[in-house]
Amino acid sequence: MTHVADRATAGFRTTYGVSPAGRWAAPGRVNLIGEHTDYNDGFVLPFALPLRTVVAAVPQPTDRWTVWSEVSGRRAEFGAAEADTPGRVTGWGGYVAGVVWALRDAGYAVPGARLAIASDVPLGAGLSSSAALEAAVLTALVDLGGLDLPTERQPRLAQRAENAYVGAPTGIMDQSAAIRCRAGHALFLDCRDESVEHIPFDLDAAGLAMLVVDSRAPHRHADGEYASRRAACEKAAGLLGVPALRDVAVADLGDTLSRLPDDQTRRRVRHVVTENQRVLDIVALLRTGRVPEIGPLLTASHASMRDDFEITVPEIDTAVEAALAAGALGARMTGGGFGGCVLALVEATAADDVAHAVTEAYAGRGFAAPGHHTVLPAAGTTRLG
Ligand code: ADP
Ligand code: MG
Repeated sequence: MTHVADRATAGFRTTYGVSPAGRWAAPGRVNLIGEHTDYNDGFVLPFALPLRTVVAAVPQPTDRWTVWSEVSGRRAEFGAAEADTPGRVTGWGGYVAGVVWALRDAGYAVPGARLAIASDVPLGAGLSSSAALEAAVLTALVDLGGLDLPTERQPRLAQRAENAYVGAPTGIMDQSAAIRCRAGHALFLDCRDESVEHIPFDLDAAGLAMLVVDSRAPHRHADGEYASRRAACEKAAGLLGVPALRDVAVADLGDTLSRLPDDQTRRRVRHVVTENQRVLDIVALLRTGRVPEIGPLLTASHASMRDDFEITVPEIDTAVEAALAAGALGARMTGGGFGGCVLALVEATAADDVAHAVTEAYAGRGFAAPGHHTVLPAAGTTRLG
């Protein structure tokens, strides 16, 4: 397939009959560790994927925005009045209008523009194509308009586009990863104060790679289950008298659990508290370059999500078990659960064999074939020229 940046340029030329003034890219992401810790004021550790969304664009002198996307093959078009009314532009164009809205609402003079979008990030697979789209459009408009908006303030605006304009409640992780990640690093994000730190995660130098398996499992009741997990955590924090479960120390876990009323609540809390600690443990290992040793922590995270938080599904568990049986150093579901992707840490030379083993295990269970990508940690938003 043609390179994604070339497809954006070709789409731009065909749609508008001129060449773009520039091209900007933003990546999809996966979370290495730290699941359901974000809304508990805890830690997450995403890294950017080499799969990217590219926006080709030219400014135009009126306050109008025209967007073509390869995904739909159609154009979305809106003016300032529509951009200024959250929810007015619906469908995929809403993500673009949301970015224009968030910028204008923050007082920036956003230039009108014609845009064309191509992407290698699969939509709706849990790799955050939505944040990649927002980040690519945001950085394009910031550059085209010469807007004074430092990188560290951009994730918040992209998140507002998704939360307040599109109406999808998400945390700050996806946009932070799409905008701020560095190649060869993971992004250690404290969801309480939103501070970030770039942690070396050089899989390549360690002879390793990450296999990302798209489970293709249908999302079953994901929204309702998410809401019920979140409510259980908030209720438990209230019972324990702490602002959030992040404030429960893993060393006090036994005592803490004995103060909770039922087994299910105890398991929910145990997941969050131990998962937060696993993020810290992986960060400590990565700081000292002990990359292969993170494997068992990934696998422990999976067991915790499966048994304590109860957010995995048979396709996901099958992929994890098959990857481990085929020699992966560690494997876990990544993302909110009930579908999405599995990460398997593998020797770079074994990636294809592990992917094949997962596909075979899927066939044996009668599941629709999974997708897969072998990746190294990539960069956040980039100007391509
Ligand atoms: P995820 O972010 O996990 O991929 P979401 O449901 O949050 O899933 O976002 C997917 C939506 O984002 C799509 O349905 C579409 O509206 C929009 N989107 C993402 N990338 C593109 C793109 N390249 N072109 C058009 N719309 C896109
Ligand atoms: Mg999304």
